[in-house]
Amino acid sequence: MVSFMQSEHLPSFSLAGRVALVTGASRGIGRGLVDALAAAGATVAITARSSADAEAVATEVAAAGGAASAHALDVNDVASIRGAIDEVVDRHGRLDILVANAGLGANHAALDVTERDWDEMMGVNARGLFFTAQAAGRVMVAQGSGRIIAMSSQASAVGIRDHAVYCASKGAVNQIVRVLALEWGARGVTVNAVAPTFIYTPGTAERLDDPDYRRAVVERIPIGKVGTIADVAGAVVYLASDAAAMVNGAILPVDGGWTAQ
Ligand code: NAP
Repeated sequence: MVSFMQSEHLPSFSLAGRVALVTGASRGIGRGLVDALAAAGATVAITARSSADAEAVATEVAAAGGAASAHALDVNDVASIRGAIDEVVDRHGRLDILVANAGLGANHAALDVTERDWDEMMGVNARGLFFTAQAAGRVMVAQGSGRIIAMSSQASAVGIRDHAVYCASKGAVNQIVRVLALEWGARGVTVNAVAPTFIYTPGTAERLDDPDYRRAVVERIPIGKVGTIADVAGAVVYLASDAAAMVNGAILPVDGGWTAQ
């Protein structure tokens, strides 16, 4: 009888030898993704608005036995994005994985949204993500391989009360991902997104520490709990790995079933 469990049929989740860049790596989900990518074997280019924050994370990763470098990157500033990506390529010789994680999330009743609220959130979540993906895409298309993973949200797929601007910004993320996947897939670069439900981080702690808010959130999640950073990291490492080689243009929900309703 022929065995189908031959090594060429087994998926690989290893990121050994890959260079991965994470935006917004100072805290929250981005900080956790750095550890997950390093544990999977990647060299991680840690980026944050403040180079001191990026250095602090790189020191922690090195102390835990991982390989990392630190770079300043503000997604509101296209020159800063391009400068950081040039630095990473100069330092490591390539860029295999981009995790475009930097993002803002806040509640605004639609009647109260200001032009500044709109510009800030769309600026970081949509414009910033696009130009980060473009800068990484230029390197990856030239090298003929790469993985781009954007941080979307369940708010890209369904309306969430008091989140009009956030929902719009994450809907834009999904559409950017789909178009880049079409343009770059045949050139060796896959582009996908992860779309989490509420994850407890510094960005959501204030809301989720309110017992009424948390109860209302948990009631909407069929699994019955908010997500963890490890839940998001599992999806990101998968999409970055060879196991996901055929996945392109996908928006992977990590939402306990919220958007299945
Ligand atoms: P967080 O704790 O508020 O952290 C946000 C990160 O983004 C920080 O590292 C922050 O850096 C960075 N950032 C903000 N503006 C930036 C800019 N202009 N340039 C570069 N970095 C910038 O957020 P989080 O909860 O971990 O969320 C991370 C991502 O996941 C976001 O895209 C968010 O929309 C998405 N997401 C979160 C949840 C959730 O429930 N937590 C659910 C779905 C999707 P500084 O330290 O410099 O401010």
